[in-house]
Amino acid sequence: MEQPVKKNDRVQLRIQDMGSEGEGIGKVQDFTLFVPHTVAGDEVEVLVLKTKKSYGYGKLLRILTPSPLRSEPLCQVAHQCGGCQLQHLQYKEQLKWKTQKVKEVLRRIGGLADCQVEDTLGMEKPFHYRNKVQYPIRREGETLKIGFFAKGSHRVVASEVCHIQDKRAQHIVEKVRDYLEEEQVPIYNEETHQGLVRHLLIKTAYHTPDIMVCLVINGENLKQAEKLVGKLRTIPGVASILLNHHKEKSNVILGAHTTVLYGTDTIIDKIGDLQFKISPLSFFQVNPMQTEVLYQKVLEFADLTGEETIWDAYCGIGTISLFLAKKAKHVYGVEIVPEAIEMAKENARLNGLTNVTFFTGKAEEIIPNAYKQGIVADTIVVDPPRKGCDSHLLATLIDMSPNKIVYVSCDPATLARDLKYLTNQGYQVDKVQPVDMFPQTVHCEVVTLLQHSEK
Ligand code: SAH
Repeated sequence: MEQPVKKNDRVQLRIQDMGSEGEGIGKVQDFTLFVPHTVAGDEVEVLVLKTKKSYGYGKLLRILTPSPLRSEPLCQVAHQCGGCQLQHLQYKEQLKWKTQKVKEVLRRIGGLADCQVEDTLGMEKPFHYRNKVQYPIRREGETLKIGFFAKGSHRVVASEVCHIQDKRAQHIVEKVRDYLEEEQVPIYNEETHQGLVRHLLIKTAYHTPDIMVCLVINGENLKQAEKLVGKLRTIPGVASILLNHHKEKSNVILGAHTTVLYGTDTIIDKIGDLQFKISPLSFFQVNPMQTEVLYQKVLEFADLTGEETIWDAYCGIGTISLFLAKKAKHVYGVEIVPEAIEMAKENARLNGLTNVTFFTGKAEEIIPNAYKQGIVADTIVVDPPRKGCDSHLLATLIDMSPNKIVYVSCDPATLARDLKYLTNQGYQVDKVQPVDMFPQTVHCEVVTLLQHSEK
């Protein structure tokens, strides 16, 4: 049978739904088209880019009638930059879409059709929330570009005004740009692996004035570095100016080695009433306001009495561990990055908490070994990276059989996969709470409470 559309056709259609990457979905007869940057309810004209048997991909040419769910993106480069996929959708609709996405994936991958998913907890002001930005720096001809990589490419879209970033970062970018231009500092070229300056990393604290500026360079020295320091240190809050040395050919942004140009090698921020030292390399949640909401949910789900032994797996710099330690008998944390564990230990000291023990290593190795040696937890919190929990870790959880598992996830698909396993092994899902840590983007954080069905 002949397809109703083929490559290079221009077609008009109504967008009916939105897919898991935030793209609009519409139909021409029975043929499904995925169209990025459109919203359910839009009437659009589309150029067909690619077709498969029953579906294809289109490029938005024109909006004929806009959906009432649209909102005008604040950002000039919202469609070119790969960062914010949902800026053109009203924020309350973004939240509904996230709740729906979690429900759908738990049903499809987790087999959990009856599971109640709470409404996504959103932000009152869903912009300027990010405390960390990593700008690639490249030269195109004569033009110095500081911005973001376009979706699926290493072409830099200049975007010095980013609307999800802490506003103070913008001023820093301007100063760094002035310095790079005035001193004619060589800029890194990925193809030739020549040139010096690769990335600019900025971390801004939320509850303290602290700012960290870190220039990632393909070498040891930055000429006229004192001029950069001179420009930056006058900005209120700049407490740490660093050079990160990264000489590898790699897509990883930071190298292992950092030196201090000015101030300290860490900055301090607070979550609730706890203080945390933050270094350039270690993971720290990027949305400080919503981190408090997320961690409060973890505490609420853990519902501690003060008698519990707890594991915090994938603990980063020990943020969740320390939150729990205030309400539990003892908390064990495990994390793969040694530098993060150093920070976790220091953070425990900084906050005067002595009932925590941190281990460096893989959660799937450390927790089973500790279990063999008699460390049995009443509650286990896991907060894995996107790929979810390792199967050895999950098997150990089943053996250890804690009363509660609190699963913090940044990828609903792997969460659903792991929940399927855990529910097949005697746990039941009691609560599922999405928290919007990343407004304007398709990313979605979820806290889930599992309890043993026989306990
Ligand atoms: N709970 C922390 C960090 C969560 S991010 C917070 O809320 O800030 C996930 C963390 O898992 C990262 O710090 C990453 O380095 C760590 N990680 C990745 N794989 C791991 C593994 N196999 N075992 C232990 N930690 C791991």
